[in-house]
Amino acid sequence: MKKLRFLADGMLGKLTRWLRMLGQDVEYVVAMEDKALIQKAKGTNRILLTRDLQLFQRAIARGVEAFLIEGTDEAENLASLAERFKFELEIDLKISRCPKCNTRIRSVRKDNVIDKIPETTSTHYNEFWECPNCKQIYWQGAHWKRIEKTLRKARKALKT
Ligand SMILES: [Zn+2]
Repeated sequence: MKKLRFLADGMLGKLTRWLRMLGQDVEYVVAMEDKALIQKAKGTNRILLTRDLQLFQRAIARGVEAFLIEGTDEAENLASLAERFKFELEIDLKISRCPKCNTRIRSVRKDNVIDKIPETTSTHYNEFWECPNCKQIYWQGAHWKRIEKTLRKARKALKT
């Protein structure tokens, strides 16, 4: 799989978290002027993701690879990105990155996190992952059904 690196602008926080879960390397910049953002994408060799047509056109004009996000929901956006950049719309936690900070998460033993998670969680789940950077702990909890649903929708959008 080709290693992709993205730079997402401030409007794409939610999409950034999705892409990171899918294993994509996404730097997220909250407040930066267009010119600086384009410079940064160029300097760090990242593909600029934006909803802003003007910013997109400016980036292209300066020879920076960019992708215009035009979908109305996450499923649609993920489908168009997967189509353009050829990645799987399937979460594999072995390659997932922390949605919060973009660091690769790693599998951790339950014993090591047991005092950091709710008791009901530790009785229902056995597999846990931790971000070595921000220490956030992840597991495939009740919210996982919603995640899968969105991905199914995205995969469906991909086929049509
Ligand atoms: Zn993290």
